[in-house]
Amino acid sequence: MAMPNVYKLFINNEFVDPDDEIFFPSYNPFTGEVHAKIPQASSGQVARAVAAARDAFNNSWGGFSGLERANVINKFADLLEGDAEKMAILETTDNGKVIRETHGQMLMAARAYRFYAGLADKIFGQSIPLDQKNVLDYTVKEPLGVCVLITAWNSPMSILCMKLAPALAAGNCVVVKPSEHASATTLELANLIKKAGFPPGVINIVSGDYEVGMALTRNGKVDKVSFTGSPQVGRKIAADAGERLIPVTLELGGKSPNIIFDDADLDKAIVGALAGIFAATGQTCIAGSRLLVQRGVYETVVDRLVERAKKIKLGNPLDKDSEMGTAANEPQYNRIMQRIDNAISEGARLVAGGKRATGPGLDSGFFVEPTIFSDVDNSMYLAQEEVFGPVLAIIPFDTEEEAIGIANDTCYGLASGVWTTNVSRAMRMARAIQAGTVWVNTYRSGQVMAPFGGYKDSGYGKERGTPALEDYLKIKNVMIDYSEDERDPFKLKT
Ligand code: NAD
Repeated sequence: MAMPNVYKLFINNEFVDPDDEIFFPSYNPFTGEVHAKIPQASSGQVARAVAAARDAFNNSWGGFSGLERANVINKFADLLEGDAEKMAILETTDNGKVIRETHGQMLMAARAYRFYAGLADKIFGQSIPLDQKNVLDYTVKEPLGVCVLITAWNSPMSILCMKLAPALAAGNCVVVKPSEHASATTLELANLIKKAGFPPGVINIVSGDYEVGMALTRNGKVDKVSFTGSPQVGRKIAADAGERLIPVTLELGGKSPNIIFDDADLDKAIVGALAGIFAATGQTCIAGSRLLVQRGVYETVVDRLVERAKKIKLGNPLDKDSEMGTAANEPQYNRIMQRIDNAISEGARLVAGGKRATGPGLDSGFFVEPTIFSDVDNSMYLAQEEVFGPVLAIIPFDTEEEAIGIANDTCYGLASGVWTTNVSRAMRMARAIQAGTVWVNTYRSGQVMAPFGGYKDSGYGKERGTPALEDYLKIKNVMIDYSEDERDPFKLKT
């Protein structure tokens, strides 16, 4: 067994050991072995990281031109692309996601850094014509200052790039806190940050458990928090930010409806349904975990999905042929199995999977069989609560109105899918569904230029696209009176 890699914190461009010398193990969910040791930052180190970011904002990065920022961010993207394979292997080892997915995610992350580097020198204000003559009014957009970026374990590099790229392009400095369940790639990224030429303090990385997260969100010198994680923690972070009146972006959970109509291209829809729930082992916020199927094709869709689900190749996540990896960690494995038991006891009909997957090459890992429940009622816990695993709830419906009612009957509103060949229906559905993303005849296709974010309990603020950049900027209005009039101080100037 290889010795675990012992990581360091990254503060002010220096690799530092944790003050209290506390490290916790990071397990490979496929082998059960400890592959890395993750440092737990002390509260003093959290404060030092925030201070380093502030210093960089005041004395280096905050004064860089857009082109200067773009050059460094582009260099960083090149380095990440060059290390894509190595980083993908590390992420797969850390969270059990199959290598074909993590490799693509590294390349997409590099693309995201380039997209925002391209915007860094295009942050324009407006010139605003007023009713008054001889008065010039214009706006400038300014960075916020120090931003805290807190990420989840399921896709650390992909989630981070959606925050870090726009934050840096806008001119902010940051402190990053990865999930305690998958910190390795974020800590590894520190090497590329240094190589790319970011000045000290622009990007700081402090790992650790929720206490590190809390120390950051309660630090009085932070100007914004961007968080990806559970709705429960999201609420606490919003409350902390509310105390201090700073803006927050929240990317939270989902229970997304994927809706197949009778008139859909079924071959395409079946693939979309599979991708929606079994890609990434269902451990994705945008999982199409509720499959709504119109009655005319209901039995066909259930049968075809069951047949296809049974053929999904589970295996070593590092193997390029594996289609589904493990649950990302033991607590998550236990949570998924508990949700499956719960669905059985509330009367959902189990038609595929439902157990730990065992057999040659699987026994050491936290594998869950691709699981399908049919005839699910939308009021069941299974249909209302996020499983965050390879567990599909299939719900029948008769009419378009009924489908809309079921789709929107959830506290979440992150993503959705519609499968139909009727353009008018597609347009009606796109308007009626209460979710931040509606995919029509496709599913789980995120692109950096297309804004992404939740409605309802799935959060607020946007990631990706130009709106994400705006979320890291504030607008200043400047009014210059160049007339030579002397005004009456007691009369409103109109
Ligand atoms: P989590 O909420 O348990 O933890 C997320 C992060 O918050 C971790 O880094 C954790 O250490 C930190 N944290 C925990 N308590 C904190 C506190 N009180 N103050 C500050 N920080 C704190 O979430 P998770 O289990 O890592 O991730 C799974 C969840 O993330 C799911 O609900 C999933 O849907 C959601 N998610 C959403 C998106 C999206 O883009 N919408 C993407 C991926 C995952």
